[in-house]
Amino acid sequence: MKAQAVETHAASNLTILAADEQEAILDFQQSILRAVLSRGDSRSMVVDICHLAEMLLPNAVATVMLQDRVDGKLYVYVSPSVPDAAVRRLNGLVPGPGGGSCGNVIYRGAPQFVSNTFADPRWSDLREVAYDFNLCSCWSVPVLGPDDNIIGTFALSSFEHRSPAAFHRKLLDTGATLIGIVLSHAQWQDSLRLYGRAFEAAEEGMVVTDAEQLIVEVNPSMQRILGYTRDALIGRTPALFASGLHPEAFYASMWQDLSDAGAWSGEIWNRRKDGEVFPAWLSIKAIPGADGRILNYVGVFTDLSSAKAAESAIQHLSTHDALSGLPNRTVFRTRCEGRIESGVAFALVCLNMDDFRSVNALLGLAAGDRVLNETARRLREVLGAADSACRWNADEFLVMTPAAELGALAALCARLAASVGIPLFIDGRVLSLSASQGVAQYPDDAANFDQLLAQATSALEQAKAAGKNIVRYARTKANDTAREHFRIAQDLRRALAKREFELHYQPQIDLTTGRLVGAEALLRWRDPDRGLIAPGVFIGIAERTGLIVDIGAWVIDTACADAARWAALGHRDLRVSVNVSAVQMRRGGFAALVDAALQRHGLSPTQLDLELTESVFMDDDAAMRTAFMDLKGTGTCLSIDDFGTGYSSLAYLRRLEVDRLKIDQAFVRELTDDADAAAIVSAVISMAHALNLVVVAEGVEDAATMLHLQALGCDEAQGFHFDRPLPVVEFEQRLAQRAAAGHSRH
Ligand code: C2E
Ligand code: MG
Ligand code: MG
Repeated sequence: MKAQAVETHAASNLTILAADEQEAILDFQQSILRAVLSRGDSRSMVVDICHLAEMLLPNAVATVMLQDRVDGKLYVYVSPSVPDAAVRRLNGLVPGPGGGSCGNVIYRGAPQFVSNTFADPRWSDLREVAYDFNLCSCWSVPVLGPDDNIIGTFALSSFEHRSPAAFHRKLLDTGATLIGIVLSHAQWQDSLRLYGRAFEAAEEGMVVTDAEQLIVEVNPSMQRILGYTRDALIGRTPALFASGLHPEAFYASMWQDLSDAGAWSGEIWNRRKDGEVFPAWLSIKAIPGADGRILNYVGVFTDLSSAKAAESAIQHLSTHDALSGLPNRTVFRTRCEGRIESGVAFALVCLNMDDFRSVNALLGLAAGDRVLNETARRLREVLGAADSACRWNADEFLVMTPAAELGALAALCARLAASVGIPLFIDGRVLSLSASQGVAQYPDDAANFDQLLAQATSALEQAKAAGKNIVRYARTKANDTAREHFRIAQDLRRALAKREFELHYQPQIDLTTGRLVGAEALLRWRDPDRGLIAPGVFIGIAERTGLIVDIGAWVIDTACADAARWAALGHRDLRVSVNVSAVQMRRGGFAALVDAALQRHGLSPTQLDLELTESVFMDDDAAMRTAFMDLKGTGTCLSIDDFGTGYSSLAYLRRLEVDRLKIDQAFVRELTDDADAAAIVSAVISMAHALNLVVVAEGVEDAATMLHLQALGCDEAQGFHFDRPLPVVEFEQRLAQRAAAGHSRH
């Protein structure tokens, strides 16, 4: 008896069956599996198994008992041939050493074959039942659950004392296996049905995606919250209902959390189909498969838009455009009108994406929205704290900037255009977009917001008509009003006080020896908001406001200091050229100022070259002549800058005692292409040489031009072909390199 008690399935698996027995078992299996496949109900399938087993073992009844997970006792699940009275007696059987065959299967975790229930100690607790229902022998085997845990028993009780043959063991074994399959399947289906009901009925919106974030299922609440049907959502990604309010970094950290911890929760803004944006509390869980790889993501959304907590966020929404996150039209208009009321000048830029319709047509509206969202983000990046932007409609943005000076405004527009022009990656495609801009200024172009907008819009239309990626200005009545100048002058004054100016140096090369013989100091304004600003933008205003006098004094002093430092480093022959405005000359005391700077830094006057424009020489008044003679007296070198752009009279060259002549880049640029320009340059060089002037060519951008100038006998050259104007540190590196290379680069 003891030996039987420890027999295992493995032992019975090895049993060799007769052919007809094998066939019977196979039939048995097949009919049950067919029932499973036809999705019959699990209880009747188990009943079928019992009937089949009883057919194969006459004079016996089959019983399936399941262990209750809570009380641990056994209850009859199915026992079609056992009288109800017996079933009632068996229910609540406590597994244990006297708990009959089934109680011992659970107790010992192994099949139990009891041939004589009346005598076997394993039946001590059930002896009465054995007698009352004439259950003489009882063989019982475990039924395994999905995790190979024992969930119950399958027993054959005979109305005679008998021991199992190999075939019987196989029968029990097969029956138990099939019952296990049927029950696991049923349990799985039951839980699925349960989950399904929870999924369907949940108040929360639920989304299930696959590992690639493609939506595989959404519940009715989610469809209701978003306003999309199930069909419209299946196969799409949650990006479909992203609000666009969150920066890229938000999603990046969400995915980081998901991959690190397998879960994320937080507040997120989504967009309904009708465009309305709403806040939701989102919990996402990554669902891994058996191998640990993520199979699915399940997201549960709780719509917060009705919640009190979301009120402040709603406030944000009511003032911001949902798609771009920029202030909305009302807020933007109010800001502009505020400036108008207080009479503060500003410019309105109307920026419209070029050919945006084809983006929508090509990639769909969702991708189009992402493009607009990204564009808004880029515009925000370009704009300074004082600027403000909104999405006025569809693909049109308005920018309000206090930058009123045309140069600064142009620089801003160029930066806006450049930021829109950075290629975009959308849905695996690279998009290169551009935008056109129309600019109108308050108060020059209009007196109120609507007029100003109309002006900017019509300027935009002109820009569009002229092609893509173009900026057009509304006709400005008076760009140079006194007030505007006053304000820019203030900016310049601040720049001077805050040391926002710097000098860049452009090397000048001797065309015969290839040596770096000089450098032109070129002024730059490093505005903290607008970046590096070229002199063309502000020199004119500095001249008109007289600020050029102070700025110019700083330039002379700084250039002398730099040149003195280079001389100390051994570059004693290096000449520094400084641009001088006619205004500086006329103000009086300029020569004294130059003298003082030379003294202060111990620089030889021959190392300083002052570049004057032709206008200085055309000005025939006495003050200018005196200033010029005084300057000559300092012993510095004097050059005529931009020769050819002004009056361009070679005749007056003779009258003037200048040392050098710089041919304007307009001629130099055309030199190799235009025979007229070549003839003029050639004539200028001959004339200048006849007057003992050194000729310098500006704007040499390529080797061909350089060779042509060499052939014409030009003395020196400067231009991008050699070097751009370099920040001091870079220029000093260039000096060192050239010294090391023996000055023989060109
Ligand atoms: P400029 O004196 O004729 O200076 C030459 C200009 O040509 C510089 O422009 C220089 O960057 C640019 N350039 C040099 N090589 C090339 C080339 O190969 N190709 C082309 N396309 N351009 C080249 P930048 O620095 O913008 O200066 C513009 C003008 O501003 C100067 O013309 C000068 O008239 C004025 N300026 C610059 N610094 C000062 C200053 O300290 N005081 C005064 N009063 N005027 C200044
Ligand atoms: Mg110059
Ligand atoms: Mg020039």
